Amino acid sequence: MRALRLLGLNDLQLCDVAIPDPAAGEVLVKVEACGVCGTDRHLLKGEFPSKPPLTLGHEFSGHVVACGAGVDIPLGTRVACDPNTWCGDCPECRRGRVNLCPNNVATGLGRNGGFAEYCAFPAHKAHVLPADLHPLHGAFSEPLACTIHGLDIGAPKPGERVMILGGGVIGMLALQLAALAGAEVMLVTRQADKQALGKTLGAHHAAATEAEARALWPKGADLTIECAGVVETVEMAPRLTRSGGRVVILGVLAAGQKVQIEPFDLLFREVQFLSSFINPFTQDRAAAMIASGTIKVAPLISRTLPLEQAAEAILNPPRRGEIRALVLPNG
Ligand code: NAP
Repeated sequence: MRALRLLGLNDLQLCDVAIPDPAAGEVLVKVEACGVCGTDRHLLKGEFPSKPPLTLGHEFSGHVVACGAGVDIPLGTRVACDPNTWCGDCPECRRGRVNLCPNNVATGLGRNGGFAEYCAFPAHKAHVLPADLHPLHGAFSEPLACTIHGLDIGAPKPGERVMILGGGVIGMLALQLAALAGAEVMLVTRQADKQALGKTLGAHHAAATEAEARALWPKGADLTIECAGVVETVEMAPRLTRSGGRVVILGVLAAGQKVQIEPFDLLFREVQFLSSFINPFTQDRAAAMIASGTIKVAPLISRTLPLEQAAEAILNPPRRGEIRALVLPNG
């Protein structure tokens, strides 16, 4: 089968490899769609830890085509992969903080992932999707699960003002979740077409810059969710948040990267500065929200591409206006 493999820093290659045999406790899935995530670009540049050589792709769904020993998921079942496989035995897992497990081996980051025709992964990480779900929609389960965790941490209340910084897929999912929670939502993104899309998905306001956002909400947001993963937005987040408000950082900055935050300002205005990492126990809720149509994912699909074009899509920044490119390894 064909698989897109990270062989080293900035070295991505389409390789011919054997179809994996599912080990005991694993499923083998024929991949329907796998999203190109900002994190794949970080992995390529060594800005997020990984262990090459490995097949990338951690946002995917497909059909079960084989089961390893001890697994009885019916063949043909459509599932989404939760890439994160915690050990269950470390102090963090034992206190329920599974996403902080130091032994997590993530599919597409620490073991072979979904930019391939087939992928084997632990069966307990296969989340069942409806058979009649649109074949491209299951790939949004993982990014939505991560975004749900961020919203769980930020806990928007009905009537609060929630500002979303960044109009990529995470920002578009976060704004929908905040609007569903009854908040008044502003999307801050530099591209006019993303602002327009955000408004169709539930944002009440859109702004391109910090100054525009401040002009709309001079007293600041109750909750600001950083979904861009750049220094500029991390630094502006507390400035755009009201006294006593909360900031949640979802975006990933490269390891070692520093930002300038004024602790006196956080202290004096008691702004809570929080962070949200991956998807502890949120993937089933994500799959349910996609299956019910509560969260709209169809407008987030900017283009689909064959495996042959996946390297180019990961090596380059997202195209102008692009929210999510989906790779279809089996055409
Ligand atoms: P993405 O598609 O690259 O989107 C990032 C967005 O941020 C783009 O719309 C970009 O706008 C916008 N942006 C960049 N600089 C900005 C600025 N100065 N002001 C306003 N908007 C700005 O990325 P994504 O897939 O949505 O992911 C977002 C971040 O979340 C990434 O860093 C990703 O690694 C991270 N992430 C974290 C988790 C977690 O568990 N915490 C999970 C998944 C992803 P332009 O198009 O105008 O450049």
